[in-house]
This record gives sequence, structure tokens and C-alpha cells, in this order.
Amino acid sequence: MTEETATNETTPACKAPGATDEVIDVAVIGAGPAGLTAGLYAARAGLNAVMFERISPGGQLAQTEHMENYPGFPEGANGFELAFAMKQQADRFGVNHIGEEVLGVDFTQDPKVLKTAFNEYRAKSVIIATGARPRKLGLELEDELQGRGVSYCATCDGNFFRDKEVMVVGGGNTAAGDAIYLSRICKKVYLVHRRDKLRATAIYHKRLEDLPNLEFVWNAVPRKLVADEGKLAGVRVEVLTTGEERDIPVDGVFVAVGTEPNTEFLEGALTLDETGYVVADETGATDVPGVYVAGDVRTKALRQVVTAVADGALCAEEAAEYLAI
Ligand SMILES: Cc1cc2nc3c(=O)[nH]c(=O)nc-3n(C[C@H](O)[C@H](O)[C@H](O)COP(=O)(O)OP(=O)(O)OC[C@H]3O[C@@H](n4cnc5c(N)ncnc54)[C@H](O)[C@@H]3O)c2cc1C
Repeated sequence: MTEETATNETTPACKAPGATDEVIDVAVIGAGPAGLTAGLYAARAGLNAVMFERISPGGQLAQTEHMENYPGFPEGANGFELAFAMKQQADRFGVNHIGEEVLGVDFTQDPKVLKTAFNEYRAKSVIIATGARPRKLGLELEDELQGRGVSYCATCDGNFFRDKEVMVVGGGNTAAGDAIYLSRICKKVYLVHRRDKLRATAIYHKRLEDLPNLEFVWNAVPRKLVADEGKLAGVRVEVLTTGEERDIPVDGVFVAVGTEPNTEFLEGALTLDETGYVVADETGATDVPGVYVAGDVRTKALRQVVTAVADGALCAEEAAEYLAI
């Protein structure tokens, strides 16, 4: 499969039959792994499942060159190809695709209303699967070096830096957890934090201090990514207390300064937690009956493909049960 073929195949040009006037059984917002799985399960249950996607199917998975931790692929999986296969599987059961961004919702009425720039759609149930995006450092070359030394996911990419020197940027639980995880794989880990102590819960502090291959770089912020032959070769950090600049040669930098959920379009329609993620119970049920949430956009402990697809399946089952009432 070439990228060109895949792009043509996945461009969601069609408008779903009955869009705007027909009431959709299950509207899925976002066609990443969570949404594609929700669509698959809903369509396979005989429901009219319509998926809204603002860019192209696959979500963050489609941007992942090589994924080593999705079960069933002993040699690892190409994220783009896996996303494409998920879409094909959903299509086989009749999921309809609408290539429009949902810009607003009204969950106070039944059917529920989804608004895009072009139409309003009505749906009996809604599964929100709009994912999240990692917060970036905002440095020059950051986008170009993503996948070439810059990573936003230690669990996903740590193994590519086995026995190498890496840096983790951040001071919260994710950064602390990432540093511990990477210390087991990498030769050396620099933990760069802009303050003189971590925000991470206390349990992490002692464990980090005990790591022989970890060096704290306190009161410091990355100022420049240094590249060599298209790959990351080091990071220049500024020590805020002295103004001194220090070049740290590393093969990888793991940015753990937070993630941002794609929930802007929800605007008061659902309960979000203090960081903007949709609050839901284990089944994906939100505080609005008939509205479910799956994948990275929901409150959860582990944001990975394997948990996103599980969420998608659960939400579709719950939606089917809701519609059967
Ligand atoms: C670089 C990188 C590497 C990763 N590597 C791994 C790995 O090795 N293993 C692993 O398990 N996980 C990995 N992850 C994490 C994994 O990709 C995510 O956990 C997973 O994709 C989440 O799936 P999702 O469906 O919840 O959200 P997403 O994949 O984020 O998909 C959400 C979709 O919703 C769409 N959308 C958003 N808002 C709207 C809207 N308003 N209207 C319509 N569409 C909308 C987006 O365009 C997107 O297509 C990686 C992530 C990144 C960024």
C-alpha cells in the first residue's frame, strides 16, 4: 500500500446518507483508534454509525511510524498501516464517514445536535473520540525532529533509545514516570525541570534520587534543539538562576509537559476535569445519557492505542444498549 493510495482511500469526501435530515443512531466524533473501533462495533451491531473526522482517519496512530506495544505484531506495527486497516474493517460493516469538524454540540435536546461549518446533524447517541495532543516545547525544529529524536511518549518510543543518552523535560508525574521508565532502558537520563523541585507526587522523588544513571537539571528550560544530519544531537538549556546556557548531548528528548484534550467544541455540554478531559465512568458514560467518551480525550490512567480501542468497543456496546431501551 502506498501512502498515495491510502490517502485517496481514506479521504472522507462523502456525506453520509441522510446527513442533516435523517437521525443518526450513533454519531462518532473523531476517527482515531477509539472512534474507528466504536464505529466498527456500532455498525456491526446493525446500527447506523456515522463518523465525523476533521483531518483524515487514523488520528495520532496514523502519525506513529513504528509501534512496538500493540499486541499481535511481534515485529511491531506501522501506525499508518494499522490505522488504515482499522478504517477498512469499520467500512466493511458499513460505517459512514463525514469529513467535517464538529464545532459545537447541543446535548440538551433529543436527538442530540452536532454542528459543523456546513451542516447540523441529529443523533440519538454520540461517542466522543476526539483524542488529545501533546503540549509542545515550542522550539524551532521541534516538528521536523519529531520521530527523529523528539518524542512525546516514553512508553511508545523509549525502546528506540536503548543504551543511549536521553533527556526528559517536565516535572510532573508523567515526567517522573518517564524518567524512571527510561532509566531502565537508556544509558543516561537527564531530567530537566524549570523549578528546583518536582511537582510529581512524593513517592517518585526518592526513586528518582536513587537512580544511578539519572541527573537532575534544575531551574532549567530547553532553549534550542540541536540537529545533526536530520536527527536530534543535543539540547541547549538555559539555567534560569544564573542565565548560563548548557549544551547537553542527547539522542532523544522526551517532552512531558502535559497534554491537551480536543474538547474545545464541547463548551459546557459535559463535565470536564480540571485539565479539560471528559469525565466518564468505566463504560465511557458521561453525565449526559446517550453520550459516551472513548480514548485519549477521556479521564484515564494510560493513553495508548490498546486502551483507546478498548474504550471504543465499550462505548459502542453501551450506546447500543441505550438505543435498545
Ligand atoms: C508520536 C506518537 C507516538 C505514539 N506511539 C504510540 C505507541 O507506540 N503505542 C501506543 O499504544 N500509543 C502510542 N501513541 C498514543 C496513541 O497514538 C494514542 O493513545 C491513540 O491514538 C489515541 O486514540 P484516540 O482515538 O483516542 O485519539 P486520536 O488518535 O488522537 O484520534 C482523535 C481523532 O479525532 C479527530 N478530531 C479531533 N477533534 C475533532 C472534531 N472536533 N471533529 C472531528 N474530528 C475531530 C482528530 O483529527 C483525530 O483523527 C503515540 C502518540 C503519538 C503522538
